[in-house]
Amino acid sequence: MTLQTIPVPAGLQTRYFILERGALSSLPELLNTAFPGKQPWLIADKNTWAVAGEETAKILTAAGITCHTPHIFPGTPRLHPNYGYSVQLACKMPQNCVPVAIGSGVINDLVKCASGIKEVPYCCVPTACSVDGYTSAGAALSVDGFKKTVKCPAPFAVCADVDILATAPPDMLASGYADLLTKIPAGADWIIADTLGIEPIRQDVWELIQHPIRGWVADHQDMLNIFHGLAATGYSMQMYIDSRPASGAEHMFSHIWEMEGLQKDGEEISHGFKVGIGLIATTILMEYIIKHDIEDLKEKMVPGLPPEERLEEVQTLLVRGCYGDGPQQTAMSKFLYGDALAERRALIISKWKTLQERLAGQLYSFETVRKMLKDANCPTSPAEIGLDEAQFLHGIHTAQLIRNRYTILDLLYEMGLMEDALLELRKMM
Ligand SMILES: [Zn+2]
Repeated sequence: MTLQTIPVPAGLQTRYFILERGALSSLPELLNTAFPGKQPWLIADKNTWAVAGEETAKILTAAGITCHTPHIFPGTPRLHPNYGYSVQLACKMPQNCVPVAIGSGVINDLVKCASGIKEVPYCCVPTACSVDGYTSAGAALSVDGFKKTVKCPAPFAVCADVDILATAPPDMLASGYADLLTKIPAGADWIIADTLGIEPIRQDVWELIQHPIRGWVADHQDMLNIFHGLAATGYSMQMYIDSRPASGAEHMFSHIWEMEGLQKDGEEISHGFKVGIGLIATTILMEYIIKHDIEDLKEKMVPGLPPEERLEEVQTLLVRGCYGDGPQQTAMSKFLYGDALAERRALIISKWKTLQERLAGQLYSFETVRKMLKDANCPTSPAEIGLDEAQFLHGIHTAQLIRNRYTILDLLYEMGLMEDALLELRKMM
């Protein structure tokens, strides 16, 4: 029997990708091919062990493969992506093993980081169609209380069994679907940066996601397509060595709300549901550009601030102190005033029509996006994820401070049009 794998773009850390119903039965062959001579070390939590771990162990034993004693985290309370757990895993990691992460985003990130620490390639067996982080380089972990992307290699092999993905709670698929749908406005953010000559689009990376994306999101129940899209998104980040291809302003809102510890009825909100709300908001902000000719907006543009007033504004936005040390510095390093701001505004004005055309060609309309999310049982209003209007709007302003990546938020801020655009957004959301 030859291993049925889906081709992965050349030169990536991920080399083997299996995605089909019953894929788990190919795991012994996958491990023998991708990790010859290594003894599997299964890592799961109690829930994912019950769903897929036990079965994996059985299949490997039946194939004559001896595993190390598995590491099974407790199932409750919900496992948190703490860097400390990765360090523990790295310390415990047996010699000459291939770690096999059996679980959703958190387990995968913990094992990814532990494998990175030990420089040991690992295999991912996902149990939910929930995030695009399975195949990305880097793990989203809490380090000293702050969520960070810790650099570490992507999985060397992925074995995604659609029968297992189908056993995950429906919310997890909905969350993954929303995350996948964000690649459309994330692409639009890249179009903005490209049009202004700030960060040119890299064609091979672009095509990997943006050509097939509409097919992947066409059916919110099609796990095979959705997982394929999420995996490819991870590959695009591996290729670009940055999350630009997969993450725009909508992800930055989500980072802010996460740092604020956003909850609804005592429950944390999934990544996909946060970026889903972000996706609706950025779509409206981008439609603001599409809808208005710049001549009609000129009198609404407010003058830029002098640096000392901007600093005050930034410090006020960050007053809760839960955002780490970076944002103030990042915000001030990209802040434009005087001649530099005038030049930037002139550039944006000269490109306005091009932006309108390119954004209109890229985006789904606000109504379409909202319907797609609703149909997939994703939240579509800030209140549904526990945000009141003040926290929602604060998140939009603050999101602009945390990354150098140029997005719709920078464009609107620099043009002095943010408040006017937010007026429209408040009417619609
Ligand atoms: Zn995401």
